[in-house]
Amino acid sequence: MVEKSLMNNYVEGDTGPWEVVIGLEVHAQVTSQSKLFSGAATAFGAEPNSQVSLVDAGMPGMLPVINEVAVEQAVRSGLGLNAKINTYSVFDRKNYFYADLPQGYQISQYLQPIVGEGVITVDLEDGRSRDIGIERLHLEQDAGKSIHDRHPTKTYVDLNRSGVALMEIVSKPDMRTAEEAGAYVRKVRTILRYLGTCDGNMEEGSMRADVNVSVRRPGEALGTRAEIKNVNSVRFMQQAIAYETGRQIDILEAGGSIDQETRLFDAQSGTTRPMRSKEEAHDYRYFPDPDLLPLEFSDAFIERIRRTLPELPDAKKQRYMDAMGLSVHDAQVLVSEREIAAFFEQVAQGRDPKIAANWVQGEFFAQLSKAERDIADSPVSADQLGGLIDLIADSTISGKIAKDVLVSMFESGQDAAAIVAEKGLKQVSDSGVIEAEIDKVIAVNPDKVAEFQGGKDKVLGWFVGQIMQATKGKANPQMVNQLLRGKLKA
Ligand code: ADP
Ligand code: MG
Repeated sequence: MVEKSLMNNYVEGDTGPWEVVIGLEVHAQVTSQSKLFSGAATAFGAEPNSQVSLVDAGMPGMLPVINEVAVEQAVRSGLGLNAKINTYSVFDRKNYFYADLPQGYQISQYLQPIVGEGVITVDLEDGRSRDIGIERLHLEQDAGKSIHDRHPTKTYVDLNRSGVALMEIVSKPDMRTAEEAGAYVRKVRTILRYLGTCDGNMEEGSMRADVNVSVRRPGEALGTRAEIKNVNSVRFMQQAIAYETGRQIDILEAGGSIDQETRLFDAQSGTTRPMRSKEEAHDYRYFPDPDLLPLEFSDAFIERIRRTLPELPDAKKQRYMDAMGLSVHDAQVLVSEREIAAFFEQVAQGRDPKIAANWVQGEFFAQLSKAERDIADSPVSADQLGGLIDLIADSTISGKIAKDVLVSMFESGQDAAAIVAEKGLKQVSDSGVIEAEIDKVIAVNPDKVAEFQGGKDKVLGWFVGQIMQATKGKANPQMVNQLLRGKLKA
C-alpha cells in the first residue's frame, strides 16, 4: 500500500527531497547475416535450433572466427554515438553456467571495449534537449533461449540466438527522470536505425535494456543501485523506474538501506521483485579468450566507415530548422525515423517546406494510422501527396476539400488530380457564380443583413457557411469572404 502511494506521487513528478539517478545498459542486436563468431544465420522467427553451428552449440574443439561485418557495425554505431573508437580491443570470457549457454562462458569485452566514451543529445517533450554520456560500447555474444512453458516438467532450449552479435551500450548515470530514460532509449534506437546497425525492434527482442536506478539527496554521492534486467519496452522501463523509485525512497525514509541487487520487472503488476543479489565482476572470472587474438584495426578502417555515415537525426533536425524554417517540434517529429524524413524531403522538394511539414504530420499521419500502415507501405506516395499540395497552392481546390481528397487517395490509390476531376471538386473561383449565390442568400435573409450592418461582425461567418453549403464546399473561401463583405456593407 505504502509503495503504491509513493509510486503514484512519483508519477506526478513529486519525489520530495529525493533525486532519482538512472543509468541504462542497452543490448542491441547487430544487423548482420551471420553470428559474431560463426557463419550461422540470424533471421528472426526461424524453426528452433535450425540456425546453430558447432561453435554456437559449444562443441569441444570448435574455434570462434570474428565476423568483420559485426566489427564494422560496432564502429559505425560508435561513430553515431559521438564516441571514441578504440583501434585495439580485447575479447574476454565471462564465465557462468546456464542451460542456454552451452560454452559455459559468454565471449564479451571487459577492460578494453571496441568503443569508449561518447555523448548523445536526447530530446524532451517540451522541446528541451539534454546531453547524456555514453560510458562504452562493447561487442558480445547473445545466449540461447530457455523455454519453460511448453511442457509441465521440462525446459526446452533453443540455440538459434546463441552466438548472435550484440552491442552493449552502457550509459553514464546521467538521467534523472523516467521521461529522460525513455527519450534516451528512443534516441539510441533512432541513431542505430539511421545507421542500419540494429533494427531496434523491441517486440522481437532485438533491443532490450537493463535499467539501473538509485535515489539520493541532491549533492550527495550516488546511492546504491538496483538493476532491473531485460526490460523490453519503453513503457515498461518507465513503469519500472517509477515503481523502483517509490520502493527505494520508502526504505530509506524508514531508516533502511538499499541492497545492491538484480531485480525483475513484472509487466502484469507493474512492480519489480528481487532475482538475485548483484554479482560482482570478479565473480565472473573474466580473462582474455585464448581462442581469439586482440582485435586491431587501422585509423583508415575507421575513416572508411565514417565516410559512409548518413546525415544523422541531430544534423537533419538542425537543417530543417535553419534552412527550412521548421519549428523544433516539427523538425523533431520528422527526423524521428529515417523513412519519415526521406518521405518529408520528397514532399518538400520544390514546395513550401512548412506546408509540406504540416501535411505530412497532420492529415497524412492521421490517415496512415487509420489505415494501420507504416510509412514504408503507405498507399499514398510522397509524390502523390505533393501533387495534392500543388492543387491547393494553385487554388484548384481549398484546403478543406483537400482533406477529403486525401481520404479518397488512401482508399483508391489514385492521384489527387484524377479524384478532383472525377468527383467535380474543382474550386469555384468564378466571381460571377459566387456573387449569384451571395445575392440569393442576401435576398432571403434581410434580418441577418441588418444584424451585420448593425455591427454584429460574427454574422459574416454564418453567411460564409451558407455559401459554402450552397456550393458543396467548392467556392473559393477567400473570394467568398471578400465578395460578401463588399455586398453586405453596401
Ligand atoms: P554492471 O555490468 O555491473 O551492471 P556496467 O558498468 O555494465 O555494470 O553498468 C552499470 C550501469 O549502471 C551504467 O549504465 C551506469 O551508468 C549505471 N549506474 C552505476 N551506478 C549507478 C547508480 N548509483 N545509480 C544508477 N545507475 C548507476
Ligand atoms: Mg549490468
